[in-house]
Amino acid sequence: MKVVIAGAGVMGLMLARELAETGVRVCLLDKSEAGREASWAGGGIISPLYPWRYPQAVTALAGWSQQYYPELIAALYEQSGIDPELSEEGLLMLHVKDAVEAKAWSANLQKTPAQHAPNTPAWLQSISDEKLGALEPNIALADAYKEQALWMPRVASVRNPRLLKALKNFVYTHPRIEVKEKSELISFQEKAGGVSISLACTERIEADKMVICAGAWSARVLNLPTIQVAPVKGQMLLFDAPRGLLNRVVLSDGRYLIPRRDGKIVAGSTLEHAGFDKQTTEDALDSLRQSALTILPALARCPVIKQWAGLRPGSPNGVPYIGKVPGYKQVFINAGHFRNGLVLAPASVRLMRTLLTNETPPFDAEPYGCERPRTKSLVS
Ligand SMILES: Cc1cc2nc3c(=O)[nH]c(=O)nc-3n(C[C@H](O)[C@H](O)[C@H](O)COP(=O)(O)OP(=O)(O)OC[C@H]3O[C@@H](n4cnc5c(N)ncnc54)[C@H](O)[C@@H]3O)c2cc1C
Repeated sequence: MKVVIAGAGVMGLMLARELAETGVRVCLLDKSEAGREASWAGGGIISPLYPWRYPQAVTALAGWSQQYYPELIAALYEQSGIDPELSEEGLLMLHVKDAVEAKAWSANLQKTPAQHAPNTPAWLQSISDEKLGALEPNIALADAYKEQALWMPRVASVRNPRLLKALKNFVYTHPRIEVKEKSELISFQEKAGGVSISLACTERIEADKMVICAGAWSARVLNLPTIQVAPVKGQMLLFDAPRGLLNRVVLSDGRYLIPRRDGKIVAGSTLEHAGFDKQTTEDALDSLRQSALTILPALARCPVIKQWAGLRPGSPNGVPYIGKVPGYKQVFINAGHFRNGLVLAPASVRLMRTLLTNETPPFDAEPYGCERPRTKSLVS
C-alpha cells in the first residue's frame, strides 16, 4: 500500500514513521519546510494545560500518548542521534480557580482505566507552600498563588524543535519514505481504488490512500463545511536564563514558563484569532514578558533573545478530526489538535494507522469522526 501524507508537521512526520514501520510506503509532502510551522513554534508540554477542562476524547488521547512518550523519545534518540530532551520534572499550576473540579477529574481517572493509575501524568495533587518553595525557590510566592497551587508530578516536556529534527532525520533515512518539501497539494481526485494528487509544481502523484495532516491549513485544503479547523495564533518568547533558575514547567493564569536543559526559558503564549497572519507584535512581547516576570521575578535580569508565532489548528472543543473525510473512500484527515498537538500526536497517529490498515483501533474512534454537527464555538 502507498499512502500520501499532505503536511509534514508533527502529525505528518509521526504518521509517516508509524506507517513505514509497519511496511507501508509513504510519500510525505510539505508546502514549505517539514516541521517548521505550529509543531516547531509550540512549547512541548506533554499535557494539555488545565487538562480537566477538556472533553474525555482529548483526555483519552493524552493519556495514551503520555504513557508512550518516554519509549518514543528513547527510540528516536537511538535512531537519529538527536536528543529531543525529554524532561520529566512535572507541571506546577499556580492560582488555579477550579481546583475542586481538577481534583475530582484526577480522582475519577485514577478509579477507572489502568493508564491513569496514580503513577501516571493524570496524577494531580495539592502542594504545600514548603514543597513549592523547595521545588522552585525562585518563583513568586504571593499568597494568592500559594492558596490554589496544584502539582502534576508526572507531566513531561520535550524540546519540540529537537523532536522534529529527530523525526526529520528518521523520515529522510527510511527506505519506505519519500519526502517532498516545497510541494504544495493543490487538488486531488479519487479514482478506482486510489487517489490522484496534483501539486503546485504541476507534478501528479498516485497513491492508494491520502491523509491530510495540514494543521491549521487543513480546512483550506479540503474546503468542506463539515471540517471546522481554523488558525489560532500563539506568540512565544525565549529568555536567556542561567541554568537552575527554573526546573519544571510552571503555569499561572493561562501563561506558562518552560525551562530547557541549557537554562533558557520559553514563555508562552498568546491566543489570537488573526487568520493566517504570523507576525509578532510589541504588545505580545510586553504582555508575555510581564506575565513571565510575575511568575519568576528574576527574569527581569534575563534578556529576551527570541520572539516567534505559530498557528494552532483550532477545532470544536479542541477535539481533533481523525478519520475518513466525508464523501471520500480513500481520503482521511488527522488534524485540528489545537493547543495539544505535541502531546496528542503519538495516540492520534496510532489511531490513524489502524484506520488506514484496518487493524483494531487502540481506542474508540467515534469521537474523532468528521460527521460531527457544526458548532459555533470553534475552540474552547
Ligand atoms: C505557541 C504555541 C504553543 C504550543 N504549545 C504546545 C504544547 O506545549 N504542547 C502541545 O501538545 N501542543 C502545543 N501547541 C500545539 C501544537 O504545536 C499543534 O497542535 C501541533 O503542532 C499541530 O501539528 P500539525 O502537524 O497538525 O500542524 P503543523 O505543525 O502546523 O504542520 C502542518 C504542515 O502542513 C503543511 N501544509 C499546509 N498546507 C499544505 C498543503 N496544501 N500541501 C502540503 N503541505 C501543507 C504546513 O507547511 C505544515 O508544515 C502549541 C502551538 C503553538 C502555536
